[in-house]
Amino acid sequence: MSRSSSLLQRSLQSVWHPCTQMKHHERYPLVPISRGEGAWLFDADGKGYLDAVSSWWVNLFGHNQPQIKAAIRAQLDQLEHVMLAGFTHAPVVELSEQLAALTGLGHAFYGSDGASATEIALKMSFHYWRNTGQPHKTKFLSLQNSYHGETLGALAVTDVAIFTDTYAPLLQQSAHMPSPDSRLAADGESDHAYALRCAQALESHVAQHHATLAALIVEPLVQGAAGMAMYHPVYLQRAREICQRYQLHLIADEIAVGFGRTGTLFACEQAGERVSDIADFICLSKGITGGYLPLSVVLTTDTVYQAFYHDQAVKGFLHSHSYTGNPLACSAALATLQLFAGRDVLSENRQTAQQLWQAVQSYDLPLQQVRQRGMITAFDIDTSNPQFAHDCYAAALENGLLLRPIGNTVYWMPPYCLTAEDQAHLVRATRAAIVESL
Ligand SMILES: *Cc1c(COP(=O)(O)O)cnc(C)c1O
Repeated sequence: MSRSSSLLQRSLQSVWHPCTQMKHHERYPLVPISRGEGAWLFDADGKGYLDAVSSWWVNLFGHNQPQIKAAIRAQLDQLEHVMLAGFTHAPVVELSEQLAALTGLGHAFYGSDGASATEIALKMSFHYWRNTGQPHKTKFLSLQNSYHGETLGALAVTDVAIFTDTYAPLLQQSAHMPSPDSRLAADGESDHAYALRCAQALESHVAQHHATLAALIVEPLVQGAAGMAMYHPVYLQRAREICQRYQLHLIADEIAVGFGRTGTLFACEQAGERVSDIADFICLSKGITGGYLPLSVVLTTDTVYQAFYHDQAVKGFLHSHSYTGNPLACSAALATLQLFAGRDVLSENRQTAQQLWQAVQSYDLPLQQVRQRGMITAFDIDTSNPQFAHDCYAAALENGLLLRPIGNTVYWMPPYCLTAEDQAHLVRATRAAIVESL
């Protein structure tokens, strides 16, 4: 038995892998990864896989990234961790200040993963209304096909059946508003017109129920888990107006789309000048550390913050996670922001995205709904193979590519460091994987 096959065996016996029916691994092997470099992951035998999904959407500047590594190393010699209740440290202060300057939302509350950021935003919104004398505002709105994480509170505002159905008895009721996903527009209806139609449906609901509504939570511009559903920014502008008119918070879940993914540093910037023009809360995680360490943050307004500032302890936000504001993770996040400040990453990405767009246009494949928002390129495949997603994933691995189709949607969400050769491989291996799984 080779070293890597014994590792696979041990993994299946001891590790309960996420988002996986473990029994399926009787037939489909795990992939043991031993190192990464740039956009590539390498298995124990040295075989390379181009990471077209940025390792579940977290990696921004590639694996083994020198500046991020150096920042974590330097921090490691200073302070690995200290609790953030009663204590503070330079990396968390510096990061909070920079994020405030970038978003216009000046108060940062930290968690360790995306789902906990969602929980924090929901709890804070509810608690804000309670502290300000509106205790009936207890319910949340989200969009159809939304995804906000898988803890119970986050799952309650998520609308992806395979994740929610089993746990429905445990979840707080919440209403899902029509998704502005451009693919759902009527024949001949523009994405702009369709977004406005969805905003109108939102307004009708809010006008009727606002007395009991605390917040609307949305994934700005791209609903990732829905299959990279993209929509027109006018929806965010209208949603913002409606939320303001009827006194609801707007929570922007930019866990997947933040940090340049959609072509602007934050997706909300395509609807307003700054994030604070659109949202009362923004949730950030995934790319925040460049994909190095778990960290999440909820940024909010001074208005929200002041509603908790009081002599009474229970009016405060008594929420905590052990690793809140971990210094190593904050140092990785600062290095990530430094990479954005150091060069014009967004315009470099525009060129890469343009090339990827042209490559898709040249495919001789049964593609539908080709779409792109910054460094997310997606299309749907017209196929009768009910196992398309799985077969395409397996065929891509054979071809040295990590691709994880969602249903019939194939998408690229690569790190921002693709070389010309990487791009050529991505385009070629994706085509091969699709052809083999139609
Ligand atoms: C991934 C994701 C989450 C949850 O983040 P985790 O770190 O996986 O808990 C929440 N919202 C969106 C939009 C996401 O993509």
